[in-house]
Amino acid sequence: MTQQRTLSLPHRRPALSGTALVVLYLAMTAGPALAAAAIGGMHAPTFLPILARAAGIAALAMLLMQFLTSGRFEIVSGRIGLDRTMGFHRLAATAALLMIAAHVALFLFRGAQPSLGRVLSRLAAYLTSPAMTTGVASAGLAVVLIVVARSFRGRGLPYPAWRLGHGAAAVLVAALALHHGVVNARFMADPAGGGAIALLAALALGSLAFVYVVRPIQAFRHGFRVESARRLTATVSELVLAAPAGTGFDFDAGQFAWLTIGRRHTVTDNPFSIASVPGDLPRLRFLIRDAGDMSGAVPGLAPGTPVGVDGPHGSFTLAAAGQGPLLFVAGGIGIAPVLSMIRHLSLDADRRPVRLVAGARTPGDHVVRAELDELGRRLDFAALYLVDEGEDADGPSCERGTCTTGHIAGLMHGLEPAAATAFVCGPPAMMEHAARILLDSGIPLDRIVMERFDFDAGNDEVCKAVRRRFTGVLAAVFALVAAAALVASR
Ligand SMILES: Cc1cc2nc3c(=O)[nH]c(=O)nc-3n(C[C@H](O)[C@H](O)[C@H](O)COP(=O)(O)OP(=O)(O)OC[C@H]3O[C@@H](n4cnc5c(N)ncnc54)[C@H](O)[C@@H]3O)c2cc1C
Repeated sequence: MTQQRTLSLPHRRPALSGTALVVLYLAMTAGPALAAAAIGGMHAPTFLPILARAAGIAALAMLLMQFLTSGRFEIVSGRIGLDRTMGFHRLAATAALLMIAAHVALFLFRGAQPSLGRVLSRLAAYLTSPAMTTGVASAGLAVVLIVVARSFRGRGLPYPAWRLGHGAAAVLVAALALHHGVVNARFMADPAGGGAIALLAALALGSLAFVYVVRPIQAFRHGFRVESARRLTATVSELVLAAPAGTGFDFDAGQFAWLTIGRRHTVTDNPFSIASVPGDLPRLRFLIRDAGDMSGAVPGLAPGTPVGVDGPHGSFTLAAAGQGPLLFVAGGIGIAPVLSMIRHLSLDADRRPVRLVAGARTPGDHVVRAELDELGRRLDFAALYLVDEGEDADGPSCERGTCTTGHIAGLMHGLEPAAATAFVCGPPAMMEHAARILLDSGIPLDRIVMERFDFDAGNDEVCKAVRRRFTGVLAAVFALVAAAALVASR
């Protein structure tokens, strides 16, 4: 890479805080039911049909909100992280399904003494009534969509095909549900309930237009092209992109971008952490492990090939760090964003102690080890390189085995773990293990920052804590919907 021009300090890009996002989500999902309740749009003689209507309105709102949570909007995910946003998207899909189930069940079991015979005859009437066709189809398709997304995401089909199919099915579910609401729901005729749903539908449509029309144009606007692409090891390549000077692209060390190779639609794009620093612009460097079609084709890319760059994205940046020591834990190709951050700290001659634990399969897989050690010379730096197998030609320079609390204690000797910030990036199993030993080593939960390369919810302590918070938000939607029904029944 060429030498850096100027250092850009990490800064928080404009994005909504977690609290603001929670308030917005509650307002947008439970708000239409509350508005309809206030205006009398859910009127019925007894409580259960009112609650059923409130659940129906909320289910529709939740389905429409799914388009906003999956649209990779930095204003939405910039502060909390895209992995958490996608985790919320998945959890909210299940909650929307539960809301649909509540909507149906409450209508089926309404009345003073619902006998099994009456419930079954109502069910048969719903399934066969022409007015209910779109509602039934929407609910059925929503079940299929969520089960398939949970069980087969990225398996069996090429990822872009899966993504397109998922998006198209989601549009169909929402369109059918909207039609069902317009045909059957009284609240759609009143200005408050109907207006709120119309606004959400417009936002969902705007989000689709942005993702499929605006973003593809924006990604190529910077004019990035392949400058060089080469293999570093049998499984890892380095890709360097360059754009004309003054491209306008900016990022913080540790962030990532979606890359589209060649002049294709961005639906084929893949996310990669930027391994260079902002001062290297207009060049961007990536370290890419062969994982499939796109990543495996990287070393064969010809110089000059246009590359769409959608970004920057992600909250895995030094803006999340405190004033205390910085501990980086990287597994395999997870070293890419860590390299960017350590390089940034080195160029800045940062005074904070910087510690690194990097794991790889063999010593040769520590592809940027020499570079890291060189960067460490300008820092209060210590590193531990771990390997699963193999030895260096010059003798053992890496330790065998996985990271333990003993390793962390050794690296952090003389430093205060409670004041440290840990940045973790690597395969899911390694992240889970790392979160556990970091907590055992005294690093506070809210000072463990993670970058997930698979967007899966994960099963570590940090993820579990986040999931509990998300579940609380979704439970609040159900509570507000019940409150809306209570208001409407007065
Ligand atoms: C925030 C983030 C940063 C990443 N940074 C790096 C990096 O610096 N270096 C690196 O080698 N890898 C990185 N990855 C992983 C990388 O994106 C995948 O390995 C790559 O997309 C595989 O694509 P493929 O076409 O080669 O393989 P495919 O055969 O298409 O897919 C293999 C697997 O990769 C995942 N995947 C594919 N496309 C996408 C997509 N568009 N979005 C999310 N997941 C996808 C799927 O789980 C799929 O099962 C990162 C991932 C994320 C989410």
